[in-house]
Amino acid sequence: MPPELKPLQPDFVDGENNRVILDAAYALHGRIDLGESVRAILERHGDSTLLLPMSARSGGGGIFQVTPPTGSTVVGLSIEPSASPSPTLAEDADVTALALDDIVICPARDWIYAGAAVSLDQLNQALAELVGPGYRVLGADLTSYAYAQVGATFMTGGMGPQRRYFSDSVTAAALYDGERTRRLEGEELADHAATYGWTGIVQAVCCRYSRLPSNEVAFVLPVDSEPGFLAALLERLAPWCFLDGSDGEVVNRQGDSDMILGIEHVTLESMEPMLAQGTDNTASRRAAELAAKCRAAGCDGLVFVNGCTEGDADAFLMSLLDDGSEDCPTIAGIDLEHSEVFRDPEEMRALREGIPFAARTQAPRGKYVFKGHTDATVRLDPEHTGDQALSLWRINREYVESLAAYFENTPGVDGQVLVYGHMNPWGVDPHNRLTLASNSRDAFDHAMAFARECTHQYYRGLDRLCRQGGAWLVGGEKGACSEREILAAFDSQSTAPAALVRKFERQRRVIRAARRQFNWRALPPYGDACA
Ligand SMILES: Cc1cc2nc3c(=O)[nH]c(=O)nc-3n(C[C@H](O)[C@H](O)[C@H](O)COP(=O)(O)OP(=O)(O)OC[C@H]3O[C@@H](n4cnc5c(N)ncnc54)[C@H](O)[C@@H]3O)c2cc1C
Repeated sequence: MPPELKPLQPDFVDGENNRVILDAAYALHGRIDLGESVRAILERHGDSTLLLPMSARSGGGGIFQVTPPTGSTVVGLSIEPSASPSPTLAEDADVTALALDDIVICPARDWIYAGAAVSLDQLNQALAELVGPGYRVLGADLTSYAYAQVGATFMTGGMGPQRRYFSDSVTAAALYDGERTRRLEGEELADHAATYGWTGIVQAVCCRYSRLPSNEVAFVLPVDSEPGFLAALLERLAPWCFLDGSDGEVVNRQGDSDMILGIEHVTLESMEPMLAQGTDNTASRRAAELAAKCRAAGCDGLVFVNGCTEGDADAFLMSLLDDGSEDCPTIAGIDLEHSEVFRDPEEMRALREGIPFAARTQAPRGKYVFKGHTDATVRLDPEHTGDQALSLWRINREYVESLAAYFENTPGVDGQVLVYGHMNPWGVDPHNRLTLASNSRDAFDHAMAFARECTHQYYRGLDRLCRQGGAWLVGGEKGACSEREILAAFDSQSTAPAALVRKFERQRRVIRAARRQFNWRALPPYGDACA
């Protein structure tokens, strides 16, 4: 075994607290030779060994829980994080020659190269330190940015509040395909994005970066979950949400640099798992205060808005007001009396991220348990944001109400839909988190079938909305894993959203052509694995 290849405990829990047990696992660090390591593993565990790339293991959706073929050996290859990578500046770099923890910035090209072990946070920190504040890779804002790694996030199709795929900022990648390390770019690169490591191991990526205004703005507004209310808010904020970076500088639709990068919605109900933890930490205490403000405003939810400006944060906020001269200032009719501006955007981020974290890691009681969420992002038309947001939230309400009625009338099933999602009109995804538990197999199966049909109806509703013109069903934030579920909602490929079908066909082609060592985990219809 190469000395850098260290054995690891072969069991772990994923981002949704699911336990995963492998036959063996090894840690990969720094300047390791992937080809040599894999050859050594095959020598020790047998030529037919199946491989499982792992990074921070925060991926959800049961992605690590695929059942291997009987009698096979599964070995995890863990791309270990580096506590302190040392970024350097250069004219250019070779993506296939990077170590797992290298960071090389090429300011003349606005490119940053990073080994697969680098986290999204380390990527942006390196830019802030070596290029300047405000320089960032678009789409590197996943809620899990502190630990999610760049190689993995190219492979998950992840996106954060900006609702931009991180993989869209990747201009080249080095992929170890079981035989050699190849440079991917152009269409071939796009075909491998969001395919979950089913085609190989990403060794490094090259990303395009942009300059964003350096003053962050963060505030929270109480909202009502009525579709009309949410639609009016999105229409008001839309001019700052649709961004254009084609000329290097990123600007909003009005051509200036004030911008909104995220509008995250939580309902009071979805805050309950966090509030139930008590108020012995700052985030829970702040959540309790905001929940109280929300109730005082007669609302049932909050939206966390974050953006950035070259000017003064207060001036940016003033520009969002319906009418700056009023005594009681409002945004989309929302009285700002119960709003709150965060002088420290990190504090708001911690709160905004703590709420979904508590909700997704709840441990429902029951012999049979399901945890998941709807996952489809719709980009609204900047000219018709209000109308389209209204239709979208009506479709969403139908989904939530159908399931709520089912749970209320079905004894033996403990079910819940928590609405906390992404409202940025550049990519709206209400992200309804569904938790189901039952001690009866029959009741559980029945509830699962009902929930699946509701989800499919929801996806078909979104597709109908997009077909009316202007809006675009972009896909899911779990890449192939979300899109296989969206495609399953349609009778045939001819009735499914055409752009998603094309993406699926391209991905399936590279997955099917990949080595068995990697594509054994590919879920149907991309491959033939059993979840
Ligand atoms: C609290 C929390 C918040 C989250 N927030 C978001 C969010 O805002 N948006 C979002 O989209 N997701 C989110 N996620 C899910 C998850 O963080 C993302 O999917 C992220 O991209 C996974 O990164 P990771 O390093 O943990 O990868 P892992 O979970 O280790 O791996 C994910 C997948 O990629 C494969 N893989 C890992 N490394 C490589 C590699 N080097 N080469 C090839 N394949 C590889 C794995 O086999 C697996 O299929 C969240 C998860 C948690 C726990």
